[in-house]
Amino acid sequence: MTQYGLIGRSLSHSFSSSFFNKKFKEENINASYANYELETLDNIKDVFQINGLNGLNVTIPYKEQIIPFLDKLDPLAEKLGSVNTIKVTREKGKTEFKGFNTDVFGFHQLIRTYFKQHHEKALILGTGGASKAVAHVLLEYGIDVNFISRKQKQKNIYNWEEMNAYFIKHHLLIVNTTPVGMFPDLDKKIPIFYDAINSKHLVIDLIYNPKETLFLKESKNRGAITLNGEAMLINQAFKSWEIWNQ
Ligand code: NAP
Repeated sequence: MTQYGLIGRSLSHSFSSSFFNKKFKEENINASYANYELETLDNIKDVFQINGLNGLNVTIPYKEQIIPFLDKLDPLAEKLGSVNTIKVTREKGKTEFKGFNTDVFGFHQLIRTYFKQHHEKALILGTGGASKAVAHVLLEYGIDVNFISRKQKQKNIYNWEEMNAYFIKHHLLIVNTTPVGMFPDLDKKIPIFYDAINSKHLVIDLIYNPKETLFLKESKNRGAITLNGEAMLINQAFKSWEIWNQ
């Protein structure tokens, strides 16, 4: 039986295993998808040695840390420094692990029909793995991108304390790429000036559980178009499947 799986630290509420196992059952595919919950990547080689392993997904917090363990990177994953899909190939007795990034495809599919001409400036909350995929897509659209981070200020990266109402008013596309408000922390709310949000804003949360975070709810209450991360999730999974079967 062909094996697939997800590497991450806390996977009890992950979507991928139920998505793929349902697909395998419905389409009579002789394969199985498992969760590999790892406290660190110290024992990643044990996962890599699983019999019949064909592909893996990678999630928080390992999308960047996994890279040194791989043999090759697809150019997009290399450019972003973020891997969420690994393809395993075996040739002449040698096994090779190659990293890809399908978050870019997933995010593009999520926004492509919602993106409008007036979304000239975007604010990305967080600077982790997913933020890089989001920024890549937005820069391809020619959008001016700024980030909010808890880390030291740098060119186009601002601190949360610096973000005022003017900032919100002048960034009509806002994307949350932090885990703030994700299950089980449903009462946690992204601290922004919600009253500066209006009907011209497109506000996106990459979180898909819950379907509507407090960040999206407050933004929607001010008239913004809001999107959660569900469509991105489904599309990145489809793309992973395509890569594993190429
Ligand atoms: P990550 O690499 O750990 O990055 C998350 C970033 O969020 C961190 O780098 C940090 O940025 C910021 N952050 C973390 N905790 C914070 C806090 N308490 N307050 C403020 N900022 C905080 O994780 P990721 O892989 O990018 O994933 C981030 C989120 O996106 C998760 O909720 C994940 O489920 C979601 N996601 C969804 C999809 C999808 O398909 N829908 C795909 C990928 C990710 P700074 O260090 O700059 O502060």
